[in-house]
Amino acid sequence: MLLQTISARSASTSLRLGKKVAAPSLYAIAGRRFYSSETEHDVVVIGGGPGGYVAAIKAAQEGLKTACVEKRGALGGTCLNVGCIPSKSLLNNSHIYHQINHDVKKRGIDVGDVKLNLGQMMKAKEESVSGLTKGIEFLFKKNGVDYIKGTGTLVGEHEIKVNPLEGGEVKTLKAKNIIIATGSEATPFPGLEIDEKKIVTSTGAIALTEVPKKMVVIGGGIIGLEMGSVWSRLGAEVTVVEYLGAIGGPGMDAEVSKNIQRTLGKQGIKFKTGTKVVSGSVEGETVKINVEAAKGGKEETLEADVVLVAIGRRPYTEGLGLENLDLETDERGRIVIDSEYRTKLPHIRVIGDVTFGAMLAHKAEEEGIAAVEYISKGYGHVNYGAIPSVMYTHPEVAWVGQSEQDVKASGKEYSVGTFPFSANSRAKTNLDTDGFVKFIADKETDRILGIHIVGPNAGEMIAEGVLALEYGASCEDIGRTSHAHPTLSEAFKEAAMATYSKAIHS
Ligand SMILES: Cc1cc2nc3c(=O)[nH]c(=O)nc-3n(C[C@H](O)[C@H](O)[C@H](O)COP(=O)(O)OP(=O)(O)OC[C@H]3O[C@@H](n4cnc5c(N)ncnc54)[C@H](O)[C@@H]3O)c2cc1C
Repeated sequence: MLLQTISARSASTSLRLGKKVAAPSLYAIAGRRFYSSETEHDVVVIGGGPGGYVAAIKAAQEGLKTACVEKRGALGGTCLNVGCIPSKSLLNNSHIYHQINHDVKKRGIDVGDVKLNLGQMMKAKEESVSGLTKGIEFLFKKNGVDYIKGTGTLVGEHEIKVNPLEGGEVKTLKAKNIIIATGSEATPFPGLEIDEKKIVTSTGAIALTEVPKKMVVIGGGIIGLEMGSVWSRLGAEVTVVEYLGAIGGPGMDAEVSKNIQRTLGKQGIKFKTGTKVVSGSVEGETVKINVEAAKGGKEETLEADVVLVAIGRRPYTEGLGLENLDLETDERGRIVIDSEYRTKLPHIRVIGDVTFGAMLAHKAEEEGIAAVEYISKGYGHVNYGAIPSVMYTHPEVAWVGQSEQDVKASGKEYSVGTFPFSANSRAKTNLDTDGFVKFIADKETDRILGIHIVGPNAGEMIAEGVLALEYGASCEDIGRTSHAHPTLSEAFKEAAMATYSKAIHS
């Protein structure tokens, strides 16, 4: 019975790929495949991050013989090893520490002798990371993906040379299709040499061995603000220097950006917006950073024990061998592709941070699935207008769709509705009332154009907004949908109501 099912699936996939139908090999039937240099894979994925590992699992699920080459020694890429997961572990646990120190007394909880055990906090982070990365290895085995540890280099149109991580013979993989998912790395700041101890990227910032007295964060985007929050909560005096006039990056709604800056300011983070870093140097134990107004002006020197460079990330293609196939990159180093993720060699596709679009794990994952579906079915789809963004500070910030400044610039007539958490029963009960929900809708049709939340649990709540946008909902659709009481999501409903009519509770 099992045999028949597998045969039927493999056969239909083979037909779609225009191949002759062959019975699956014994290896495939047993659900176990072993790497052999003579074997040709249907798909070889280079990079085992959220884009690559999801693509590899999906390809195997589609019945394609799949390998994934990863050079890090662990699956999960930037996200699981040095990005989303470790940063969220530290954000969660530093929030609990901060709350115990500053927030629980008024809730009727007296705590004595609170101490930070940074080593244990880091251990908890490492355990989350290793549990999740091993989980992907398990999923590879379960789905029959060949996991090849090493650096993959394109050496021919259908050939990838693999330099094994643990040394030994260089191998060559043959592939009908190749998916490049090699991700990104932190953009360096000219003149500041990263040592990951005193001048760090996010990778060093998630692994400091003691709390710095003073920390300067260069760049007020999401990564800078998240890491700045962690170390500020643990006791560092944090100053964020941002070139632009506002924090949060260009996608964040301007009203939300002002609100979260005020709230983070109340928590103790200092901001220098409209300010550029001119130069910096390490003098003994101190890092000196010279800044001046972005428009030019008097220089000032900031001193810190640790400086975090968080000015963005850039595509990573070192050692990949793009030049061997003459594959094109743009002026920002992104590999050039068409709308079906194809390079000029149509069997080589590219997904995730190493190509166009937002550098987000879930965007890379969606692309991984779509790219495989183009291979196996001939069609795939990602709605780039409905990819959410979340900043995991406290309160969180989350949004999907267009910001008010974007809609205004488009010249479209629009309506706006907002609802503050200070008027939401659950937020008041939880003594957690900073922030608001904001809807932006087409004035004529009431169709939702963007949803922006700054508030507790915004990152979870935005999922409803993403679904609404996917289904082309109007604000009235949300406003007439029952939301459980008492929940934070009632603020979401009321902000929608405020857009086409009036909220009840404010
Ligand atoms: C501190 C931090 C926090 C973040 N937080 C979030 C968050 O909360 N939410 C979110 O959505 N995103 C977050 N991101 C961004 C997220 O990590 C990336 O968008 C995501 O990891 C991109 O996935 P990817 O598969 O394209 O690339 P990556 O995750 O970078 O994976 C690429 C992999 O390819 C491997 N590789 C590269 N070249 C080769 C080669 N030649 N051969 C073999 N292997 C190779 C690399 O070792 C790497 O493991 C965060 C990033 C950072 C740095």
